[in-house]
Amino acid sequence: MTRHHGILENLLHHLKSDLLKKKSVLAVFDLDSTLFDVSPRIQKILEDLRDRPETLEKYPEIIPYLKQVRTHRTDWGIKAALIRAFEKTSPPPAMFHHEARDFWAQHFFSNEYLHFDHPVEGAVDFVNTLHKMGVEIAYLTGRDWLRMGPGTVEVLKKWNFPTPDDSTAESQVRLAMKSIQGADDSVFKSGWFDSIKQHDYSRLLFFENEPKILHSVRQNHPEIEIFFMETTHSGKAEPDDNWIKLPNFLRG
Ligand SMILES: [Mg+2]
Repeated sequence: MTRHHGILENLLHHLKSDLLKKKSVLAVFDLDSTLFDVSPRIQKILEDLRDRPETLEKYPEIIPYLKQVRTHRTDWGIKAALIRAFEKTSPPPAMFHHEARDFWAQHFFSNEYLHFDHPVEGAVDFVNTLHKMGVEIAYLTGRDWLRMGPGTVEVLKKWNFPTPDDSTAESQVRLAMKSIQGADDSVFKSGWFDSIKQHDYSRLLFFENEPKILHSVRQNHPEIEIFFMETTHSGKAEPDDNWIKLPNFLRG
C-alpha cells in the first residue's frame, strides 16, 4: 500500500456530501506533467531532431548515441535524456546542445507534438468522475492559445477528457490558456485565480506539478487546496511538506 492510497477516494466521498449540500466546487488542473505525461512528446522531438538532414550532416558521429535516447516522465526538458544517452562517451559538441534546445522549444510548444502526450494513469477517469458529479472543471495551463490552442482542445477530446463543449448547467468546463507566449506561469496562474474569486466556490482544488507555481498561488489564495503531482518539476522551488502528494490519479 502506498502513502497516497485512498486520498482521491476519500476526496470524492467528501465532495459528494458537499455537492448534496448545494456547495459549489471547482477543480483546477494543470496539463503538462499533471494530467499529461509529456515524455513521449519529448521522445518524438528528440527522434525528429536526430533524423533531420542537418543533424545527419553535421553530427554523424553522435547519431548512434541519439538512437539510444529514452525519455522518462521524471525528466525535466531534454537534458537528462541526453546525458543518459552519452553516459559512456564524450558529450556532443556545445553547438549541438544549442541547436537541440532551439529545436525542442520550437516543437514542444506546438499544436502538432501535443498529440504524442499520454494521460497520466487514472487522469481521464478522475476528471470525468468529478465532472459527472457536478464539480466544475478548469484546465489552467501555461500553454498559449496562439501556438497550442487547437492542439490542446483536440488532444483533450481525443483522450475523452471533458472539454468546454461538455459544459452543463451543473458543471461548467473551462480551458484557461495564455493568449500569447511570454507571461510568467506563476503570475498567469495566480492572476487567473484572482479572476474567479467572484464565483465564491466553497472548495477550490488545484492539481499542479510545479512547486514554484503552487507557492505563488498559495500565497495569494490560501483557501486553495493543493494536490501536488509528483511527476517532474523545474527544481526552482521545493514542494511544501504539508501538500498532499500524488504520483498519478489512480484511486485504488
Ligand atoms: Mg505542469
